Amino acid sequence: MSLSWQEQLRQSPKSIPELERFLTLSPVEKVALQKLDQSGGLPLQVTPHYLSLIDQNNPLDPLRLQVIPTQSEFQPDPLERRDPLGEEDHEVVPHLVHRYPDRVLLLITDRCASYCRFCTRKRWVGQGPTPKPEHFKQALDYIAAHPEIKEVILSGGDSLILTDKRLEAILEKIRAIKSIEIIRLATRMLTFAPMRITENLLAILKRFQPIYFLNHTNHPNEISKPTEEALLRLADNGFPVLNQTVLLKGINDQTEILIKLFRRLTYLRARPYYLHQCDVAPGTAQYRVPLEQAMKLVESLRGHISGLCQPTFVIDIPGGHGKVPMYPSPIINRSETTITLKGLKGKQADYPLV
Ligand SMILES: *Cc1c(COP(=O)(O)O)cnc(C)c1O
Ligand code: SF4
Repeated sequence: MSLSWQEQLRQSPKSIPELERFLTLSPVEKVALQKLDQSGGLPLQVTPHYLSLIDQNNPLDPLRLQVIPTQSEFQPDPLERRDPLGEEDHEVVPHLVHRYPDRVLLLITDRCASYCRFCTRKRWVGQGPTPKPEHFKQALDYIAAHPEIKEVILSGGDSLILTDKRLEAILEKIRAIKSIEIIRLATRMLTFAPMRITENLLAILKRFQPIYFLNHTNHPNEISKPTEEALLRLADNGFPVLNQTVLLKGINDQTEILIKLFRRLTYLRARPYYLHQCDVAPGTAQYRVPLEQAMKLVESLRGHISGLCQPTFVIDIPGGHGKVPMYPSPIINRSETTITLKGLKGKQADYPLV
């Protein structure tokens, strides 16, 4: 199968009959999909490429569970929030979120190649309103008027869902603002439609360096041959690639899976950057790993795999108050003059405080 990325999008199932051409749906999945059809929330869409990586014989396939809705999607929890990260409160002009002093998040599209059922922006993603050119102009004016902003993160939706031409136009305008140093492209295209990384795209992007990629991969099975090739093409062309992973119950919440994922990514020169505790978006309870268990998982990675393979585990706390890094505390004891720290294999040592 060698469809172009545009063909991948065109041929992505968006309805039950289309999906059934690729997957045998369980009765439970069908009920959930019918409900989804009526509720009009985060739509159904999965690329043929991603579907091809799903093991049909495993009803709990870790990729299937990320993109095919289940009943629990319609069971909101009282602790969940429509806008878990308070992005709407920090939106300074439409689709521009300015939460940290030196960087902004610009949501350039609400579209993705496939829709993850746990998406933190499921209130808006795939449904619009789609950002308009006048919004983009307002965002640029804001950025230009705030020279303390040094970095623009292009996200959405998926920043790479835009055509080369539109991306080029956007990047040109951002690069015309002298105070901007770094551009970050947030995307899940390398997993959903890795053929997006074309020679033409690379040639365009090279003109606007430094560009960092923020890739989103959650499971080793997502790293197919074309994804490997796309990751290496980015690295070979001089684009640093960072990776974010969402910790997902029943999908990647095992030490061995995470180690395999992070080692593979590092080998492909995509540096694990963040491991996210799943946000409290509506109907995502089935994906959330209880925090204490998540911390144990994180602890099981420390010391066991190279520091190069270790992402920072973060909770983006509700309300938009930022990402909080979570570390298992190494402090055993504290006196006036020393702290006692726990190291490898639980071995302890004192270190002077003064
Ligand atoms: C996560 C996020 C960023 C980027 O944070 P880093 O720690 O630099 O990766 C910037 N703005 C918003 C609104 C974010 O949610
Ligand atoms: S790719 Fe990102 S923005 Fe799109 S549905 Fe998945 S998590 Fe949401």
